[in-house]
Amino acid sequence: MTSRTNIRGIGPIPKIPKGVSMKKIIEKSCDVCGNIVKTPEYGGGRCKTCGWIDDPHQREYPNCKNSNNLVSLNRAKLLWQEGKKLLPDFAELLDMMRRGFEFDFLLHGRKYEVLLDKDDRWRLLCIGSESFQIFDSVDEFANGASISDIPLSICWEEISVVDYME
Ligand SMILES: [Zn+2]
Repeated sequence: MTSRTNIRGIGPIPKIPKGVSMKKIIEKSCDVCGNIVKTPEYGGGRCKTCGWIDDPHQREYPNCKNSNNLVSLNRAKLLWQEGKKLLPDFAELLDMMRRGFEFDFLLHGRKYEVLLDKDDRWRLLCIGSESFQIFDSVDEFANGASISDIPLSICWEEISVVDYME
């Protein structure tokens, strides 16, 4: 017998009690850009205009970051007004690393991963390449990580997608 796993592949799908609909879709205005977004009643719908994922928790705590959205609601509004992507800046990224979050990102069409190994060291890998960089601490990563000899802190302006992995 095979057991079904959820989309992240980390365990069984939680059972939904009978009579509870998880699928009720509502239309509301996006908390960041104000355009109409279709979202399940309890959040999770992604705005097609700005990319914000509707999140009732962040509506209540607009300075909170979680893994749905990579920046806080207040920060997202500022970035949107400035015409920037809703992505964490390098300092915010380091902050998440100190909290133990691994992540991946895209830069110029290539995918990179930053992972914590079993010795608590950080590795920067480029997917599809054999080489990697290794750092003893987040501070070392901050000062030493580079892509094509350009410090990551500088390349970071040009990344397109970031995902945290828990
Ligand atoms: Zn939006």
